[in-house]
Amino acid sequence: MGTARAAIPDATTAAALFAQAERFHLTDQPRFAGVLKQLHQRESLLSPAQRWHLRYLDACQTSLEGNLAKDAPILQDIIDHSGDPALVTRASAKLINSLAYNRHYEQAFTLANTLTAALPQVTDISARAEALRSIVQMLGLAGEHDQALKYVRQLDPERMPRESRCATYSYKVNAISSAVTISSADPELLRAIAICLADRQVIFANTLRLDRADLLLQEGHAERAIALLDEIAPTIRRSRFKPHLTELYDLLAQAYLSQGQDAKARTWAMAVVSASDPKSFTWPLQTAYEVLYEVEKKAGHLAEALSYYQKYVAQDKAEMDDTKARALAYQMVRQQVLDKKLKLEALDRQNSILKLRQALAGKAQETSRLYIAMLTLVIVVIGLWMFRLKHSQLRFRQLARHDGLTGAFNRQHFLQEAARILQRLHQADAGACLVALDLDHFKQINDTYGHAAGDEALRRVVEIFRRELRGSDLFGRLGGEEFGILMPACTCEQGVEIATRIRRSLAAARIGLDGGVKVEVSASLGMAHSAVSGYELHQLFADADAALYRAKHGGRNRLVVDVGGDAPDLVNVDMPDSASA
Ligand code: GH3
Ligand code: MG
Ligand code: MG
Repeated sequence: MGTARAAIPDATTAAALFAQAERFHLTDQPRFAGVLKQLHQRESLLSPAQRWHLRYLDACQTSLEGNLAKDAPILQDIIDHSGDPALVTRASAKLINSLAYNRHYEQAFTLANTLTAALPQVTDISARAEALRSIVQMLGLAGEHDQALKYVRQLDPERMPRESRCATYSYKVNAISSAVTISSADPELLRAIAICLADRQVIFANTLRLDRADLLLQEGHAERAIALLDEIAPTIRRSRFKPHLTELYDLLAQAYLSQGQDAKARTWAMAVVSASDPKSFTWPLQTAYEVLYEVEKKAGHLAEALSYYQKYVAQDKAEMDDTKARALAYQMVRQQVLDKKLKLEALDRQNSILKLRQALAGKAQETSRLYIAMLTLVIVVIGLWMFRLKHSQLRFRQLARHDGLTGAFNRQHFLQEAARILQRLHQADAGACLVALDLDHFKQINDTYGHAAGDEALRRVVEIFRRELRGSDLFGRLGGEEFGILMPACTCEQGVEIATRIRRSLAAARIGLDGGVKVEVSASLGMAHSAVSGYELHQLFADADAALYRAKHGGRNRLVVDVGGDAPDLVNVDMPDSASA
């Protein structure tokens, strides 16, 4: 419980301390350092996000101390591991500045490029402004001032949170002055200075005022430049920002030189030299050597003058080399980006080709499915068509083979089939009986009941015949009321038996006609057997027909069997009132 009570005020304090740190960062160095110290004392109580924030502020601190090389690893760690988009953006912007300051231009441009690409996703206004500012700075370093202006126009200082309003103004003015010549009385410059002073953003205010002093010098207002420099000197000293200090000395040296106050010019120029690392190259150091060269030359100290001149040239060369290095790095990164873009485009193209292929494959599948469907349809249609064809063929065959009235085989088919069966029976040496049958006095039925009744009677008669026939017997209507029966594999006795059965059944039947009329019909039959007549249809028929003729003449309703030669016919009659012949 004790911890809970302690944690709440601590948490609030921590948040308040962070807010203070952000405020003092560019306005009050000593207080910024103090707040950081307090935050470090409470480090164990901070949330993970707060700890990342603290690390970021540590990096800000090292860069303010001029130890830009030291902050790079911290910033990289924040970028890689903090997971806070706004903080990642801010750390990236800071790292870009750090890298550029240490002349790692290629890395700086690469990171700036990544940041530019990520810019549309950056929603935090301050972080976005910081990102834009570093991008603008890098474009300025690459000499791409027009591009820098394009980005700077996205920065609206008036819409920024108060703590980044001044920074935004100063970057904007800086980008503009790099692209075009501005005057020391430029309203935007003056407004930027006023804003930064009002917001107590000392570093930015000093940068802008140093720039203004430089402009005054270039415009020939050395006196006003000196006045401005004297005015800002105390704050520059207090800020402990080394680049400003050397720039201040340098501008004073130049101003005094232009006024002919050589001693003062030399003093300030020497101050620049002693405050600078002799191996490094900076603008102030270069111009300081130039001032010293001029001063010594005027004093007639030619050896010193020459020595300073050589140092000036070395600085100038370094500056030229640096400009070249920056331009080269920028171009290299641009090239890399272009390469990457081209590769991505190639990949994109490959992707779309792949997609196209897939679509094509899909289409092909669809087409083949369509083909299959069509084929199936065609097969079904052909099948149906063949079925109908077969059906009609069968119907035609039925019509061609059968008699329309009774459904029995017609004469032609009966004769054809009979010849074929006889041939087979002949080969198998199996007997065959052929019966010729003619209805008795059928004309009378027509005459008495009409032709339609005659037709009906014919159908009934055929039904009676069929009932008495074996499955293997061939039955056909030979014409009118004449029929033929071929009994295969049949002895004469069997033939007599079947023929007699047929005759008796018919004679015994009372055939019912339409209108309830019942008639009696008999038939005369003549039978020939293969054992007597042979297997020739023609001969068998002639003999059966002759036997039929004899049956008619014998009194009708009887079977006459041709037994061959002079032997008497086998006659079979059993009408109740008739006698056998
Ligand atoms: P029978 O044979 O006993 O000498 O006397 P029949 O009256 O049967 O004489 P025949 O065999 O010479 O004549 C056949 C008759 O059968 C002639 C015709 O009126 C009749 N007839 C033939 N074909 C048909 C037919 O398809 N329908 C009808 N209704 N009658 C037919
Ligand atoms: Mg007849
Ligand atoms: Mg007849």
